Amino acid sequence: MTRGRDGVADAVVRPRLLVSACLLGEQVRYDGRRLPVDPSIARWAAAGVVVSCCPEVAGGLPVPRPAAEIAADGAVRCRDGRNVSAPFRRGAEAALALCRRHAIRLALLQERSPSCGVSRIYDGSFSGRLVAGSGVTAALLRRHGIRVFGPHQLREVAQALQSEAG
Ligand code: SF4
Repeated sequence: MTRGRDGVADAVVRPRLLVSACLLGEQVRYDGRRLPVDPSIARWAAAGVVVSCCPEVAGGLPVPRPAAEIAADGAVRCRDGRNVSAPFRRGAEAALALCRRHAIRLALLQERSPSCGVSRIYDGSFSGRLVAGSGVTAALLRRHGIRVFGPHQLREVAQALQSEAG
C-alpha cells in the first residue's frame, strides 16, 4: 500500500477518524453558525477516512440551542440552570457507538465545547473563563481507549493516521 499526503492511504480506505461535525462545516453548532473547514480536514473527509458526529445533535438537541457549560457539580447546565446532562450523555454514547461500529480509534474534536472539548472547557459560570478539562464526549471516548485530538493537533492526527495505515 502507498501513502498519500496527511497519512491517507491510497488504497483500502476505511473510516478511521471520528470528527466533530462542526469542524466539517456542518450547521450543528449551538449558535447555528458554520465554521470554515481546515484544508487537511477537508482532504481527510474527501478521502473517505472521516466519520462525522455532532454529539449534541445526536443526543437530541436542536440547532440553534441555548449555550451550555459543565458546572462545578459535573452536571451540564444552560445559563438558566436547566440540567441538560441527559442529552449530552446520550450524544457521547452515540459517538462511542459510531467508533465501535467502524473500529475507529482516533477522534478529532472541537476544543472548548462541553461535549467535544479536548483539553479546555468553560468553567460553568458563563463568564468566558476557561479551565483545564474535557467535554462529556471527549472524556467518554478517552475512557474507552480512543485517542482524542484537538484542532491545534492536526499534525499529530496526520501522524496517527499514518501509523495506523501501517
Ligand atoms: Fe456538535 Fe461537538 Fe461541534 Fe458542539 S463542538 S457543535 S457538540 S460537534
